[in-house]
Formats: sequence, C-alpha cells, structure tokens
Amino acid sequence: MLTINFLGTGAGNCIYRCHTSMVLDWDNGARIMLDTGSGNSSLINGAKLGIFSNDIHQILLSHGHFDHMGGLPHIQGNRTSIIPDAPPLQVYGSKITLDRVMKLFEATSITHKVDTNGVSDSSGNRLIEWTVVNPDHGVDLEGGIRAYPFEVDHISGAMGWHMECSNISVVFSGDTRICDTVATASSGVDVLIHEALGTEEYSDNIKRRGHSTAAEAGQTAHLASAKRLIMTHIGTQFHNNTNSLIQEAEQYFKGQIEVANDLSQMIVEN
Ligand SMILES: [Zn+2]
Ligand SMILES: [Zn+2]
Repeated sequence: MLTINFLGTGAGNCIYRCHTSMVLDWDNGARIMLDTGSGNSSLINGAKLGIFSNDIHQILLSHGHFDHMGGLPHIQGNRTSIIPDAPPLQVYGSKITLDRVMKLFEATSITHKVDTNGVSDSSGNRLIEWTVVNPDHGVDLEGGIRAYPFEVDHISGAMGWHMECSNISVVFSGDTRICDTVATASSGVDVLIHEALGTEEYSDNIKRRGHSTAAEAGQTAHLASAKRLIMTHIGTQFHNNTNSLIQEAEQYFKGQIEVANDLSQMIVEN
C-alpha cells in the first residue's frame, strides 16, 4: 500500500492553496518527498498530517521554479534544529535545477557553506547532499525505491519522476506542457499525478506559461493506459471548481480521476 500525502497542490499564482509538495509513504516504511513547496508551507501542512522534517531524508525535485524548491532551506533548517547530528538530507534533481538551489542557499544562508556537493554548517558538518541526476538515468533510493527521471517540456532542466517500490508505481509529471515523455514514462502506471492548471477554455494562456490543461492530463493518462489520474498544481480560478477539471479529463480517460487538495491523503493498494 502507498499513501500519497499532498502538502501543497496550488500553482505558483494560486492564492488558496500551498505550493506543490507531496510525501509518498509506502507501507514498507519507504518515504520520499517530491518538491518542497515554497517558504514554510510544507512544514505547516506536514505537521497537520504528522509528517515532520526529522522524518524527511530524501527529496526529489522536479525543477528550479521557486514554488517547487523554495521550501528546501526551511525544511533543512527545521530538520537540523530537531536533529543536529542527522545524516545529510539527500536531494536529487537535474544539474540546472540544483544550480538554482545552490544559488538560493548562497543568497540566503548566513553561516552555511555551499558547494557543488551540498550544504555544510560552519563546522563543516554536511547538512544536505545533492545528487545530479540526468533524464533517463534511474537512481536507487533508501527503502527500496527506484526513481527514474524523464525530461518534460517546461523550463530548462525540468523533469518528471517515475517511482516504484513494493510493486506500486507512481509518476509525477512535475510542471509541463503536454508531452510524449510523460505518457511514455507512465505506461501502465498505478497512479499518474499530473499537473492541471485549468481547462481548455484557458488553453492558450496555459500552454504559453508551460503548463497543461485537465483535458491534456486526461489525454496523457489515456495514452499511457494509467490506472488512475490525480491532478494537482491547480490554478486559482479552479480552486473551488475542480469538478470542471474532472469533467474535462473524463472525456479522454476512463479510469479513476481525482483532484488533490492540500492535506489530501490518497491510498493506492497493490
Ligand atoms: Zn509550478
Ligand atoms: Zn514551474
């Protein structure tokens, strides 16, 4: 069994939802955080679900936009304050994404030392280790999770992630325009978590900003023969109108379709 804990489900400009972050918990104890949201939103919503930073040890990043990785300094800071001698937080992303993360830490840290391998405190103790992962090269993570990144169509260095553990597979599209790589990586997957900024009515604007509509999320789930589609990264005008997203995706995908909300906990059985 897998529990997907949604800590943030809003697009960058959403004023009702926190920025994108989720924690995947397999029942063998394997845990991964996908994106960090921005600011302290993942810490606040995590605490509401009983998920605290001292139990976060590995984080996958989709890309270098602030609404997806800006929470990392706060997660690290809180984690270090709770367990000062914790093993370094492991962070995985593309080179371009991790370059942006380095710049964020360099710009904001007072006592930390930042280098190409991670972040250390003033005494040289490693607080974060980051690992550059290239698209189409998988990594084996703690808990027996196999994570496989793939390129998507958003900004330079943006990737989606395919994860598998205990015979349950999940794909997170990250931010992306509709693209074949998501469908290919999601072939037969148990759950496709796909971004959906809005409906086709706003298609031009959504595509221009590098995102997908609910119809496109449905098309991708259909093309991939995914078993289930969960939409996230919702725009402001659809915060209270998620039915229109579901109705649009239903035109293309006949499997189970949901829209995640902040604090949603969705169960996936194997
Ligand atoms: Zn975003
Ligand atoms: Zn983005």
